[in-house]
Amino acid sequence: MRPHGGPGRAGRRRRPVKLCGETRHGVRSVRRPPRLGLLLLCLVAAAAPAAPARTRNVVLIVSDGLRWQEVFTGADPLLIDDANHGGSWTSPAALRQAYGHPDPLERRRQLLPFLWGTVATRGQLYGNQALGSHVRVTNAVRVSYPGYNEMLTGRADPRIGGNEFGPNPNVTVFEWLNGTRAFHGRVDVFGTWSELADIFNAPRSRLPVRVGATLPDATDPSAGGRLFAELYATTTHLYGSNPFDAFMQHALRAHLRQHHPRLLFVGYGDTDLWAHMRRYDLVLETAHSFDRFVGELWKQLQAIPQYRDRTTFIITADHGRGSGAVQWQEHGVAEPGSEDIWLAVIGPDTAPLGERRDVPEIRQSQVAATVAALLGRDFVAAVPAAAAPVTAVLAAPARANAQPRDAAGGR
Ligand SMILES: [Zn+2]
Repeated sequence: MRPHGGPGRAGRRRRPVKLCGETRHGVRSVRRPPRLGLLLLCLVAAAAPAAPARTRNVVLIVSDGLRWQEVFTGADPLLIDDANHGGSWTSPAALRQAYGHPDPLERRRQLLPFLWGTVATRGQLYGNQALGSHVRVTNAVRVSYPGYNEMLTGRADPRIGGNEFGPNPNVTVFEWLNGTRAFHGRVDVFGTWSELADIFNAPRSRLPVRVGATLPDATDPSAGGRLFAELYATTTHLYGSNPFDAFMQHALRAHLRQHHPRLLFVGYGDTDLWAHMRRYDLVLETAHSFDRFVGELWKQLQAIPQYRDRTTFIITADHGRGSGAVQWQEHGVAEPGSEDIWLAVIGPDTAPLGERRDVPEIRQSQVAATVAALLGRDFVAAVPAAAAPVTAVLAAPARANAQPRDAAGGR
């Protein structure tokens, strides 16, 4: 990798965005009269952080369509005991050996050892319905684009009815923060799903979005860079131009050896893909890899002074899926349970309360303001329609200042 490589970053440096300068389409899309909206955004961006906190960097990580059921109870016995249900090519005996401990608390550790070994002891997890914790999407569609839009912009948009919506008219918290002096040029987006370029509205936001076919770094002339590009070009893509998670992980980790963003989005896609393909064995394998990848990122960043003890990971899903012998494969209005997701947070400001029980419901729309609040910024002040942050994962002073406007702030 060349020191300042990366297609998006180079483009951004050539065309610096004026801080609170001329009218930008992205700012206009906030539902206010343009001039008033600009003024408010400028005032908010210029304001001092709401409260002192230790977090200086946030990584928002999504495992597309990974169910809360697998997160909290591990592999589904119904789906690993019978290949007819799970569509698995791996034998039930081999799946049970790897992921089928009879105790669900051990089974979930087998599947997601970083989540249950590190995040659960040093952070918080929400969404175990058996313990009275619910995390729900509020969009009515329960597919990916509406979910990513909701978590990134702070509200469901009824205009967004599916994954083919096109460029997002709404401003993500990533675009908003990238428009501030402290974060400008220090925001990165990586993912496998090519539609993320529309969801982040890459042309308008000018965020460096590396997803799908833009994942390989075309400016990298090294032997490793050429090998990566060749493997990407010659590997069969199961869906569109989307790479497998392992490709994205490699590109991301290489990027982070050269660049140190303060705000990073990481979108893993394999868990959704293999469920749609009716391969429960590969859902488990890719969920296990996802957990490993998150652990790798945590370890890599903690070894860098900028990130050590100053970085919060927010880990979640864009939607749930159906349950039972058949509906686990799909998600949407026809599959009850697709609205149920989960949320995990680990970082220096998040009290180590582990798996939460008997807490108010959390909504997917709260993620955007939570990202901002962890960084000392008030997204709701800029976008009043956005949901309040999840106060329970913030530092105590920020919790006091956040003043959630509804009962969904968590405890
Ligand atoms: Zn899907």
